[in-house]
Amino acid sequence: MTTQCAIVVGAGVVGLSTAIKLLEAGYKVDIVARDLPGDPLSIEYTSPWAGAHHVSVATGADMRLHEFDARTFKVMSELIEQDPHVPLYFATQREYREEPEPTGEDAALSQLSLMSRYHPNFRWLDPSELPEGTVCGATFTCILIHTPGYLAYLLDRVKSLGGRVHRCGALTSLSDAFEVDPSLANANVLLNCTGLGARRLVPDLKVFPTRGQLVIVNAPWVREGKTRLGPARDGQPRVYDYTIPRPKTGHVVLGGCAEKDNWDPRPRADMSRRIKERCLDLEPELLPPNKRGGTIDDLEVVQEAVGLRPTREGGIRIEADIIDNGRGDKIPLVHNYGHGGYGFQSSWATAEAAADLVKTVLARGLTSSGTVRTARL
Ligand SMILES: Cc1cc2nc3c(=O)[nH]c(=O)nc-3n(C[C@H](O)[C@H](O)[C@H](O)COP(=O)(O)OP(=O)(O)OC[C@H]3O[C@@H](n4cnc5c(N)ncnc54)[C@H](O)[C@@H]3O)c2cc1C
Repeated sequence: MTTQCAIVVGAGVVGLSTAIKLLEAGYKVDIVARDLPGDPLSIEYTSPWAGAHHVSVATGADMRLHEFDARTFKVMSELIEQDPHVPLYFATQREYREEPEPTGEDAALSQLSLMSRYHPNFRWLDPSELPEGTVCGATFTCILIHTPGYLAYLLDRVKSLGGRVHRCGALTSLSDAFEVDPSLANANVLLNCTGLGARRLVPDLKVFPTRGQLVIVNAPWVREGKTRLGPARDGQPRVYDYTIPRPKTGHVVLGGCAEKDNWDPRPRADMSRRIKERCLDLEPELLPPNKRGGTIDDLEVVQEAVGLRPTREGGIRIEADIIDNGRGDKIPLVHNYGHGGYGFQSSWATAEAAADLVKTVLARGLTSSGTVRTARL
């Protein structure tokens, strides 16, 4: 049987994971992307900016996301167990809430309750363990992701499975991907894993940035991650503070901020100050041991940065469509984008769903009208 050829546009965590799933399923895969792992940081390439940890934000309102996150947690856990070199690490996470957990029927569908279904060592915190101002919380084993290292690991896996990688300029249309290399002209299917780029390339105006500002500090003695959530008050946005240790670097990533539709790539001084104050309150051990009890001026700041989460109204889009390959042929197109602030923790499940959809559309073929019936996952 002839091997079918797939082009994956995008080399963030979503494109690389999708390429691996396609290669494992027997397709010949070519990745085409403007930005690649190891490049200097760019505001247009989200993946290297992420903290990151696997701590799901899914609630009962989005059980599809819960399933994606739970499945990806399982795959990542297996990777840690099978490969000592994968830059993923089990670590303890503490979650604090300033509002009580829902009661009645909704209790089982809160963010924490859903995480209790699959995180090892899950335990609700005793009131004596809660910091002032919080009313409930939980601790469990999560997964920390060294994002630059993990992207390099995924790229190596793509290459070792026989995948090819082509750097391109900024494409103005997805059809241009067929022309990046002469060998791509006859590809059987195109996958769109362009994150925020999908806003213009599809075009899909449901895609927008959720701006995240970070402060990275040196604190190798901090091994535990913490998150505190609470309601908006005093004209400030909702409480959303987190500390994520970045393994092997000695650094801790401090956040958070989630500013909808804000494209500003520069760190703002007022936001950095707020993040430092709130995170130091959350994790006093961010200060060097000889400066405990000090102020934010005693933090060893390494970097202040901004990343844009590729959010999509309606959630992640995994759907089939068709595209013209520039020579008048209609080719199946499978979208996998819009992963917002959860692209790493949903990556393997969404890659599997996209690869399954490729199999379905190629088996079904184009209809007589030249279209593939659209499937939404
Ligand atoms: C501050 C911050 C913290 C985060 N923390 C977490 C976390 O803890 N856990 C978690 O799971 N997620 C986290 N995220 C979210 C996560 O980083 C994203 O969901 C994920 O990186 C999206 O990956 P992607 O592959 O879709 O997009 P990207 O990484 O942006 O990759 C897009 C790819 O498409 C290519 N591309 C785009 N447009 C074009 C074009 N026109 N022509 C050619 N190529 C193009 C790019 O070059 C790139 O290769 C965080 C994000 C931020 C900003």
